[in-house]
Order: sequence, then C-alpha cells, then structure tokens
Amino acid sequence: MGAFYDHPDNSKIWQSEGNEILTIWCPGCKDLHQVFPSSMPKQRASDPRWQIHSINPLTISPSLLVTCRYGGEAQERRCHSFIKNGKWQFLSDCTHELAGQTVPMAKIPEDW
Ligand SMILES: [Zn+2]
Repeated sequence: MGAFYDHPDNSKIWQSEGNEILTIWCPGCKDLHQVFPSSMPKQRASDPRWQIHSINPLTISPSLLVTCRYGGEAQERRCHSFIKNGKWQFLSDCTHELAGQTVPMAKIPEDW
C-alpha cells in the first residue's frame, strides 16, 4: 500500500514501499502517466525506469513512451514525449492532438 502526496510542478507522488513513483497528468492522452525512478528495483529487465534530473521544474530522461489499446480499437494509441524544465515536448509520432507540440505540465484534475 502507499499514499499520494502533493508535489510541486503540478504532479503527485505515489509513495509505496520506499519508492517514489511520479504520477503526472498527460494533457495529450488526458490520462495519468507514471514515472518510475531509476532507484526502484526492477522485476523484469524490460521494466522502464527514468533518471529524474530535476523535480521542480521536472526534467527526466530518457523519453516517455506510452502505448495502449482500448478494447475494440483498431489502432494502438501512442504517446511519446520528453519532459524538460516542466514542459512536455510531444514528438510527432504521438497519435493524440498534441503531437509535435510543447506544452507546460498541467495539474491533475481535481475529480480524477
Ligand atoms: Zn500521454
């Protein structure tokens, strides 16, 4: 079990078993994405981990790639971005409307 606590720069942190998982609102997907810090043990070699270079404003590396397919959808959704200095840099291979744009990080909606 863990708990959320508020974090500067419009994100939240889910703290669980000594690990701090960054939870951020993606304005492209209109969904949450999670950033697992490099200090967190991997269960499988393929588990993604990020270097968190700065927390406020947030800078992480490498890029964040999220792919998913909702039930029945023919095409996979893809969200590929860099987060630098508190801004999302969405790459052109995103399937959402913010592809190719750079936008400030947004707050997690109150009702989420
Ligand atoms: Zn996204």
